[in-house]
Amino acid sequence: MNPRLVYFFLFLTFKLSSQEVYQRSFTKMGSDFELTVVADNPKSAEQLLAEGTAEIDRIERLISSWDPASETSEVNRMAGIAPVIVSKELFNLVQRSIALSRLTDGAFDISYASVDPIWTFNGQKVIPPNPEKIKASVAKIGFQKVQINLKENSIYLPEKGMKLGFGAIGKGYAADKVKQLLQTKGVKGGIVNASGDLSAWGTQPDGTSWQVGLVNPKNKNKVFAWFPIQDKAVVTSGDYERFLIMEGKRYGHIINPRTGYPSQGVISCTVFAPKAELADALATALFVLGVENGLYFVNQLPEVEAIMIDEEGKLHSSNNIEVDETI
Ligand code: AMP
Ligand code: MG
Repeated sequence: MNPRLVYFFLFLTFKLSSQEVYQRSFTKMGSDFELTVVADNPKSAEQLLAEGTAEIDRIERLISSWDPASETSEVNRMAGIAPVIVSKELFNLVQRSIALSRLTDGAFDISYASVDPIWTFNGQKVIPPNPEKIKASVAKIGFQKVQINLKENSIYLPEKGMKLGFGAIGKGYAADKVKQLLQTKGVKGGIVNASGDLSAWGTQPDGTSWQVGLVNPKNKNKVFAWFPIQDKAVVTSGDYERFLIMEGKRYGHIINPRTGYPSQGVISCTVFAPKAELADALATALFVLGVENGLYFVNQLPEVEAIMIDEEGKLHSSNNIEVDETI
């Protein structure tokens, strides 16, 4: 055997085993985040985790519709008044979100947010809202109406009361961006976990795959399945995240953009895809599409798989995933 090759092999083994896993947890974008990186020492890990956190802050300032200073809030304020010139980053995100709204036939709709003020998903009992009020808000929804001008980088919501909201895609986008940033800094392996929306790359220091556990929607402290993942995103939308009780029934925070009411029939939906942004938008859309239409749709998409759980706790999965029937 060539002795040089032996040296190289030994060096590599030493190098890999000296790496460790470092983590940081915090709350941003109204969600619990956990960043995991494989790094050489605590000092460089600290620096990397700080840069990842700063990137999430930056994205939140750009896309939050709660922060009055964000570009998104300016677009929403100017609805029915005038187009707003925005950064290329926000423009591109809106453009891709519209494409995803089209792909899902409006089940994921970036302009769903005109109904936001009607519903408060804080786990409390609510009186059914006035149907006329819902009807008026639904009339404002429609990704087809959003006007984007490529030359000017401007976005215009042509009706007063129209509103963009990135709740269903923002965490996925942030997870992809942080992963990308850390990869360019040389991090060989890690996971960005935004309340269960996660993007992973590389492996653990010992070379084994990262494992992702899927939460049981009926008992969120329990995991019902583990999957090894490598360079993949896994995103879960669940009705246990934010919900309200109306006439004795529990409703999750995903709105059917056609009716303006919380979507029913599905209690959890997990999507596996190459990017978290896509997985995030699709997980929300599948909730609205329901089990049959949702899986029919996913089975036509390359490199995308899904697991859906219906109200009876029955599991349904796309063609290339096998799961037990109930949780
Ligand atoms: P997720 O947890 O990714 O499914 O996102 C749910 C969040 O997305 C909600 O809290 C809303 O902010 C927003 N949202 C709800 N329904 C829709 C919808 N049909 N299309 C796009 N965004 C939605
Ligand atoms: Mg989503």
